[in-house]
Amino acid sequence: LFALFTSTTMIAQNKSYLDKTKPTEERIDLLMKQMTLEEKVGQMNQYNGFWEVTGPAPKGGNAELKYKHLRDGWVGSMLSVRGVKEVRSVQKIAVEETRLGIPLIIGFDVIHGYKTLSPIPLAEAASWDMEAIKKSAQVAADEASAVGINWTFGPNVDVANDARWGRVMEGAGEDPYLGSKIATARVTGFQGDTKADLLKVNTIAACAKHFAAYGLAEAGLEYNTVDISNSKLYNTVLPPFKAAVDAGIRTFMNSFNILNGVPATGNSFLQREILKGKWKFDGFVVSDWASVREMIPHGFAKDGAEATQKAVTAGSDMDMESYLYVAELAKLVKEGKVKEAMVDDAVRRILRVKFELGLFDDPYKYCDEAREKSEVGSKANNDGVLDMAKKSIVLLKNAPSPFGRAGEGLLPLKKSGQKIALIGALANDKNSPLGSWRIASDDNTAVSVLEGMQQYKDNQLTYEKGADLTVGKTAFIDELVFNTTDKSGFDAAQKVAASADVVVMVLGEHGFQTGEGRSRTSLDLPGVQQELLEAIYKVNPNIVLVLNNGRPLALPWAAEHIPAIVEAWQLGTQTGNAVAQVLYGDYNPSGKLPMSFPRNVGQCPIYYNHYSTGRPVNAEKNVFWSHYTDVEKTPQFPFGFGLSYTTFEYKNCKVNKSAFAKGESVKISVDVTNTGNYDGKEVAQLYIQDVAASLARPVKELKGFELINLKKGETKTVSFTLTDKELGFFDNDGKYLVEPGTFKIMVGGSSDKGLESSFELQ
Ligand code: BGC
Repeated sequence: LFALFTSTTMIAQNKSYLDKTKPTEERIDLLMKQMTLEEKVGQMNQYNGFWEVTGPAPKGGNAELKYKHLRDGWVGSMLSVRGVKEVRSVQKIAVEETRLGIPLIIGFDVIHGYKTLSPIPLAEAASWDMEAIKKSAQVAADEASAVGINWTFGPNVDVANDARWGRVMEGAGEDPYLGSKIATARVTGFQGDTKADLLKVNTIAACAKHFAAYGLAEAGLEYNTVDISNSKLYNTVLPPFKAAVDAGIRTFMNSFNILNGVPATGNSFLQREILKGKWKFDGFVVSDWASVREMIPHGFAKDGAEATQKAVTAGSDMDMESYLYVAELAKLVKEGKVKEAMVDDAVRRILRVKFELGLFDDPYKYCDEAREKSEVGSKANNDGVLDMAKKSIVLLKNAPSPFGRAGEGLLPLKKSGQKIALIGALANDKNSPLGSWRIASDDNTAVSVLEGMQQYKDNQLTYEKGADLTVGKTAFIDELVFNTTDKSGFDAAQKVAASADVVVMVLGEHGFQTGEGRSRTSLDLPGVQQELLEAIYKVNPNIVLVLNNGRPLALPWAAEHIPAIVEAWQLGTQTGNAVAQVLYGDYNPSGKLPMSFPRNVGQCPIYYNHYSTGRPVNAEKNVFWSHYTDVEKTPQFPFGFGLSYTTFEYKNCKVNKSAFAKGESVKISVDVTNTGNYDGKEVAQLYIQDVAASLARPVKELKGFELINLKKGETKTVSFTLTDKELGFFDNDGKYLVEPGTFKIMVGGSSDKGLESSFELQ
């Protein structure tokens, strides 16, 4: 390999940085000493690969220029290059045709899988199963690394509490504690547990995004402003990012939004002071797509040069798609407007990650056609995403019905002798359940619910669409147009429903109704679906409503009338198999909501860990005068909520002492018994409230959870430990305080109720 490098370079360079036996920092020094300013800037430049380089000539737009830049060594990274053949061809140019032969780092949005898709990340979060989530990220890394990718733009760790925002589907929901645990699981799933694991061929570098506060956009409007206190920033937004750093994450992506007046991309406080300063993060920060340039319309930079100056100064190391660093940065350094030391720091960080990935040792290690063939879509990967899909399903309601087993809910369905009517366009949809962010997977590759249910052959299954969900797309940015008028299929659907024992209706959102740029002002079922639901209910109320959606929906009518509701999100490639196995009881659901489901959209943002509004009517019972005049202020389905086919009882909540000194650990235990008729899994959750503090604290905060398996009739004791790490909070200066006083605790299977106790911290 060494010979290859030396023989193909145009000018013989000192390639001592290729010596694997030398420490990484020394190798970086040896390389950087030889780099021109332009070559350094090149490392900070990322281009997309939406242009073919294997074809006869680069086509379209500024492809020719990009191609030239690549050959000149002015490109450090590319994103969205598809497949081994393409990656190899661009890597070959970087390694064999540029002066120094620095390999590219190849990024891609592997958000919930590459081709074999796991559930959307919000759905995965509903599993509260860290091992499964880690495994799912491993599956994604396995496929991505097999097609030439060595860097994913994930995980998205944006805490989000407004269901109107379309990107809630990409994160882990509204809670910073759960979000932090999931961030750790995803980072170690993608990268491995240690830095050395990055050298393996089936791991990829991860990227925590979007730094920071992007998930708290005002009114859930995409890209909107965020204005929050620093205490909110430290306590709610930053913990999952910090967890990602602690888990060894190698890259960060900043965000589009303005935070407290300063765009995140030009925000030194976030990137230099907190991330690279306090947290000592030594990987690199990539901008979001054209976010450097967007500082101009934000009113924060007068032109591209100033945007570049502000972004680099603030610690944005790599420019994704603004085309500004490559155009402006060298000049700015020569004019003394940006210190070369800042450029050096950025380049060192980028090269560090490339060395850690082993790209200098074998630039083609991810370009293995044999792995591409064996890994993408493999049986093992499909089994992996099916397992994750089942674990992501949340049972929201299961009321008794004449067609259920005696004394039990309508679910699970009986496996034989039943007439089942399956209704809803989404039931026969192989595309929508794949969800947003699946740029590499082919359309229509999901197992539909219809296909999944057809495998249970001893029932009589009849499918009727009822109504189309969409009737096309607008010319303007491809917006979906929903069917709001055509009810011509209602009659046929009512007919099969009327003669069925049980009706399964699959309703919800289209897969492209969430994701980037997909904010909504309504959380209802789009199109004529609500009318269809009510029309079917009139002829047969024994309905199992299976929801397919990428965000919390507000369905008060369904919550009141429909006996069984299953939250099945968008579960990816194996959607139909997972849903069918849950409906028929071959898998007992155990998911819990990672986000509150409101009663109507007017409650948004609604989240369990809010502050008290004051004005108590009965403070003991947590009843406050603050209310809406038209709807109960509680959520329809709270954070942490989810049922099972069995039932669980919590007893004997004990705190090991009533008073503790700072620094001591508090031990809490509770007995959980499976009191129902099925083996099952339960997520026992611990919430705390710091009753009086120097800054008001939320009414409840999740500080522990455990997923336990319980056989029918079995009891297990679950223990939680609280230390200063869980009991304190950050003030507005970012100082972590653990204050004496009373702490209330609550333990149970949901955020809205449980066994209560308290202790004193002295
Ligand atoms: C998104 C990022 C994504 C990037 C590259 C942006 O529009 O905000 O999350 O990684 O595009 O596709």
